This record gives sequence, structure tokens and C-alpha cells, in this order.
Amino acid sequence: MLTSGQLVARDIVLVGGGHSHVGVLRSFAMHPLAGVRLTLLCTDVDTPYSGMLPGYVAGHYGFDDVHIDLSRLALAAGARFICAEATGLDRGARRVLLRDRPALVYDRVSINIGSTPQVSQVPGAAQHAVTVKPIVRFNHCWLALLDRVRRQPGRTTIAVVGAGAGGVELLLAMQYRLRNELRALHRDPDELRFHLFSAEPVILPTHNPTVRRHFDAVLRARGVQLHLAAAVQEVEPARLRTAQGDWFAADEVVWVTQAGGAPWLRDTGLALDSRGFLRVNRHLQSVSDPLVFAAGDIASMDGLALEKAGVFAVRMARPLTDNLRRSLRGEELVGYRPQRRWLALISTGDRFAVGSRGPIGFAGAWVWRWKDWIDRRFMRRFSGLAAMVDSSVEPAVPTGLPLGADEVAQAQLATAMRCGGCAAKVGEGVLARVLAGLQPLQRDDVLIGLLRPDDAAVVRVPAGKAMVHTVDFFRTFIDDPYLFGKIAANHALGDIFAMGAQAQSATAIATVPPGLESQVEEVLRQMMTGAVEVLNTAGCALVGGHTGEGSELALGFAVNGLIDADLAGVLRKGGMQLGDVLLLTKPIGTGILFAAHAQLQAKGRWIQAALRSMQLSNQQAAAILRECGATACTDVTGFGLLGHLLEMACPSGVAVQLDLDALPLLDGARECVAAGIASSLQPANLGLRRALANAEVFAADPRYPLLFDPQTAGGLLATLPAARASECLEQLHAAGYTHAAAIGRILPMGDAPTPVTLVG
Ligand SMILES: Cc1cc2nc3c(=O)[nH]c(=O)nc-3n(C[C@H](O)[C@H](O)[C@H](O)COP(=O)(O)OP(=O)(O)OC[C@H]3O[C@@H](n4cnc5c(N)ncnc54)[C@H](O)[C@@H]3O)c2cc1C
Repeated sequence: MLTSGQLVARDIVLVGGGHSHVGVLRSFAMHPLAGVRLTLLCTDVDTPYSGMLPGYVAGHYGFDDVHIDLSRLALAAGARFICAEATGLDRGARRVLLRDRPALVYDRVSINIGSTPQVSQVPGAAQHAVTVKPIVRFNHCWLALLDRVRRQPGRTTIAVVGAGAGGVELLLAMQYRLRNELRALHRDPDELRFHLFSAEPVILPTHNPTVRRHFDAVLRARGVQLHLAAAVQEVEPARLRTAQGDWFAADEVVWVTQAGGAPWLRDTGLALDSRGFLRVNRHLQSVSDPLVFAAGDIASMDGLALEKAGVFAVRMARPLTDNLRRSLRGEELVGYRPQRRWLALISTGDRFAVGSRGPIGFAGAWVWRWKDWIDRRFMRRFSGLAAMVDSSVEPAVPTGLPLGADEVAQAQLATAMRCGGCAAKVGEGVLARVLAGLQPLQRDDVLIGLLRPDDAAVVRVPAGKAMVHTVDFFRTFIDDPYLFGKIAANHALGDIFAMGAQAQSATAIATVPPGLESQVEEVLRQMMTGAVEVLNTAGCALVGGHTGEGSELALGFAVNGLIDADLAGVLRKGGMQLGDVLLLTKPIGTGILFAAHAQLQAKGRWIQAALRSMQLSNQQAAAILRECGATACTDVTGFGLLGHLLEMACPSGVAVQLDLDALPLLDGARECVAAGIASSLQPANLGLRRALANAEVFAADPRYPLLFDPQTAGGLLATLPAARASECLEQLHAAGYTHAAAIGRILPMGDAPTPVTLVG
């Protein structure tokens, strides 16, 4: 696996965080291939392990027990994680097309995206049924169903459509859980009615008669009404119709029937089977494109009808890993041999399970305990992760890959000692190609900009306006250059908006680590595309910049803004007034969360939420604050909340009462404090505690260290008259600043040199 600073010569893109790809990541981490970078691309950061899903529904497991944290797994394995949806393949250009972001380049791509419900063929099913696939969406649907059942007074009828192992197991798990829920609410569990519909004349058609008999008995004993040979052909609100034309009342319809391939695969030109699954050969390689591999439910192996089950997806991980590796090396591929008979342990919801293997069936509480042991052992392989890769390896020309002469020369150059000065500029060809693909906003007041570049840009300051200047620059803290570009631009714009100004133009300064020309170009393209998207949305034209080589990817902007020349609308730090309310527009905690991320201590979903917060522009918040009569404003960045608050309070000559209970915090920030984690800048910020009147009272409070936590692309901190505060908060919430909160009040400055008093 690639370690930081190593040369990227080939890219493997893993599309979907299914059961096979988690295994691929693990194996590649343990047996790295120099020069190869893995990127895991998935719509979700937490991927469910199907074997434990019914146990989760039944209430035996918590969310984290049954989900693999893909972000953390990728980080531990030295791979990139990109949380995005694949929408297609441009096989000619070797790119995976993504929703709402630039395509990703691949040398090999592997697809493990599970199956998609085919509800479109049944009128009303898409609108009125809860679908179990894609499996990753199921949790959301299940929690909503749980809530509806809890709230609905009286009887609830639930119809499960599909009587394979998944449908039967899920029904029994739901029944067990929902009955317990009603009991806890002091309601009669018999208010619940369950119906099971199947197009087949038997339940569990792919299992042996002993297993079927067991489940038949369990279902009947639990009062489940079976409707066999009764394909559901239409769903309407609160009812469904079978092929026989009979209508059945059902408050909830849960869809667990055979699924098919994702619709986007049809446009890739890859060979698909009749249900839309990707046809692969015994090497798990597309029969129509040797650069494309597939595994799990989405793969349909020519000449072999495999059941769509997680056990196969798990077993495919090893041959898939081997073949991705061999394919890049130009070696002969290995064959995947599925198990002839496989063990299915199917639970009945109540800590009891039935075993099925070929013609054999057995059942008992011990089978559940055995299944529980197997499943937990599987999950342990992906939790409690320590970094699996050695990050001390020096960059070197990869020797295990068949590189072209040109690539070898570029790799040698990139790993040799580098020159400084102007020799450290990124090559002109690379830059020209990247710039040609960017579409910065055109503004009339940009007289000379990127459209006809010159030695410098020329912009006009419109009559009656004054110019606001600011600059910001930092190195990347994530392995996704597109997102980094967006956040760096958003961060740099923060100062402009905090002043109450409109952004006008920006020049960029970037450093990119040396590498193969194609890699340098791709990183620069991704990063600048993200940045330009943000600048454009802010009405800010990118007018120039400079790109050099550096050991780390870094990006910054000098931004110009415009404000009325009489400074009428300017928002200063020092304008706080007695009686004002202090507002904060975004939650804090980015510094500590990314410190925890680097140590593999942060949950992936915390990091994704922090990244979303960092991408939220302060532009609209500034407009709302101005409209509501803000008296002072600043953006919260490197000095942390307390540092920036002091920058406001001191020149205003006031004291501040800061309410810890009201502080909006990013998910996971408290947990990171409890784990003793801190950002590397935090100790420097801690010196500001002498400005606190009562630090000793709150020093042990878990929120206290977060006052010193440095923020990237943080929110606005502003004061405004108390009478306007609730109206302002309403507007901020409606505009998407859902965490905006009133966090303090402005008081007269006393004699002591401690302007901030904590309450909470
Ligand atoms: C209730 C139930 C219980 C089951 N129990 C078992 C069991 O006990 N044992 C068993 O072997 N099988 C079981 N199955 C079957 C099992 O769920 C599937 O066979 C298995 O999930 C398939 O795994 P996979 O790796 O192919 O894909 P999945 O596990 O479905 O993972 C696919 C991943 O790809 C991501 N993805 C999808 N589309 C995109 C996209 N366009 N871009 C990026 N990412 C994408 C998804 O977010 C997801 O993370 C059960 C099924 C159900 C419904």
C-alpha cells in the first residue's frame, strides 16, 4: 500500500464498500504493492455487515456492532476514502463518473456495489414500500418504520414481500423487536399483525426441506400469515394486491425480493446479464473489459448461478485482491472457486438460529451463539484498527510494476533531489491543461484575468467601493484534493464575509508533491476544480496564481472583497455593545476531530459531518447577521473560539459571559476530549486561558478544551442587539446553519483583566 510521500504510479479504484472490498483493503494493507494507490469510493461511510443486520433489527446489537467504518478502515490501510456516488464509467478515459464532483481516474476499477431493488416493475412499490436494498439505506428506513409503529395507536399490520432467507429472517427479527417495543410502552404486543408474501409455492426455496419445516413451524407458532404462490403485483397506500387479484390491508410493506443491477451500469457498455448484473469470468473480471473487475451481489459469473449472499462476497475478496495485483503486474490471473456447499445460519429473532448446509438442517440456541461468535470475529477484523502500513518508507521508483520508459524517467526525476527557486514550479504543460479545464467566474471588473493571462491580474475597484484584502494558506489535512480545494477556498473567503464584504477576486498559491506528470496534473485538477466551484458560488473570480512543488499538498488564496467606501456596512471585531447577544453560526471541534482522525480514533461519520460543516459557506450567514443589525463579527479559525472572542471583546472594551451549555459542538468532539486527544495547535491557544475569570471552575469540564480548539473554515462569531437575536437565529436555521446558537451575553468590563466568564 502507498504510504504518505510515496510515488503513485497506478490507481485502483474500488467502487462500493461491500463485503469484498473491505477484504481487498485489508489484504492490500498487509501486502502492499509499491506505487499502487487504492481509493475506496462509497456512498456511505458505514457499511452494514449483512450477517448481523437481522440481529441489529431484533435489538441484540448496536449500530456500530454491525457496521464497518469505511473511512477508518481506508485510513488504516493507507488508502483514500471518498464518500461519493458512482454514476457511470467513462471507459475510454478510464474515469469513474461521480455525482456532484469530478470524475476519478483509474488504472483498474473494481465494482462491489451490491444489488438494487427492482421495485419499478411493481406499480406503487417504489413509493409505498420499505426496500431492504440497497442494504446500506435500510437502517434509515427501519428507524422510520420503528418510529411509525411506536406512534400509531391500535393495530399495525406489516407485510413482508419475499420469503427467501433474507425476508423470513428480517420478518422474525422485526416481530421480536416491535413486540418488545410495544411492551415497553405498556401496550399489547398482539396489536402487531404480520403477513409474509411469496411468489414461490414454498418459503426459503433455495434451502433444504428440514430448514423449511423449521421455519414453517416458527412462523406459524408466531402467528405470521403465509401467502404462498402470491406474487405482489401492486402496492397502494395501506394495501397491496397479489397476482390472484386479492387486496390485503397493510400499514407497512417491507420489500425483500430478488434485486437486480444498478441502472447506471447499463450505460457503461459493459456486458450485463438479464437482471442487469455485471457479467464476469472466473477471474472476477468483466467479460467485456479487462480493466474492470466485480465482486459480490453485483457480479454474475458466466456459467455459474450463485446465490446473492454475503458469504460469497466475503470469499471473493482474496481472488479479487490477487487479480487486481496480478493484472497491474501483467501476470496471469487466478480463478475464483466458490464453495460448493455453504453454511447459512439463519436466526429466528429470539437468539435462536437454524443452520442450513446442503441437505443438512439443524437448530437451537447454540446455533445462534455460534453464529454470534462467527459474526463478531468477522467484525473484529475491521474494528480496533491500528495503522497497517509503514509510513516511514522513502519515496522510490516502483519496481514491481511494468512502467513505460517515459514513466520511469518521470518517476526517477520525481524521487531525485529537487531544485528550489523557480525550478520548483509545476511544469507549464500540466498547468496549462489544468487551467484550460477550469471555468472561473467572469466579472466585468476583472480587466485582466485568467481568460487572457498576463504577468499579473488587473481588477477595477468600482466607484464608491473600497477594497478588502485577506490571505490564508494551509497544507492539506485530508486525502481528497477536490474537497481540500473546496475547504481551502471556503476558509479563505471567511475573512471577507466576516467583514461584511462581497468577494470579488482571488489569486491562488498551491504546492503539489512531485510525481508522475499525470498524477500531478490530476491532483491539481481535482483541487482547483473544488476551489473554483466555491469561489464561483461566492461570486469571486479566480484571476491568477502560482503553483510550485512541495513536500505536501497545500493551497491558499489572497482574496479581494468590496465594501462601501464609507465603510457603512463593514463588520468590525471591536463593535460589541453592552446588552448584545453573542451568536455562533457553526459548531466547533474541527481541530480535535482531525487530530483524532490522524490517530484512527475518530468515527468516519464524525469526520464526514465535520467536512460538511467546513464546506458550509459563511456568505449567507454574514448577510443575515448584517440584516439583523450585527454590531461586531469575526470568523472562528486557528486561534479557536476563545482566541477570536478575545479579539472582539478587547477592542470593544466589554466583558463576555460565555455559556458552555449553549456551545454547538461537532459530533464526536466531546468523545475526542474524553479520549485525551488535542490538536497540535491547541497548547499554543491554551495560553489564552488567563483571560478567563473562572477557568479553574470549568477546567475539568469536557467542553472546556474545545474553547481552545483551532478551527478550519469555522463559523461566524457575532454580536447583535438582544431584541433581534431570536429572529436572527430563526433565519440562520432556515438558511441551513442548523447548529447556530446564542452562546453568550455582553456585559460591562470590570476592573479585572479577565474579560470572559464561563457559565454552564
Ligand atoms: C435482511 C437480510 C439479511 C441477510 N443476511 C445474510 C446472511 O446472514 N448471510 C449472507 O451471506 N447474506 C445475507 N444477506 C444477503 C446480503 O445482504 C448480500 O448478499 C450482501 O450484502 C451483498 O454484499 P455485497 O458486498 O455485494 O454488497 P453490499 O453489502 O450491498 O455493499 C454494497 C456497498 O456499495 C455501496 N454502493 C452502492 N452503490 C454505490 C454507488 N453507485 N457508488 C458508490 N457506492 C455504492 C453501498 O453503499 C454499500 O456500501 C442478507 C440480506 C438481507 C436483506
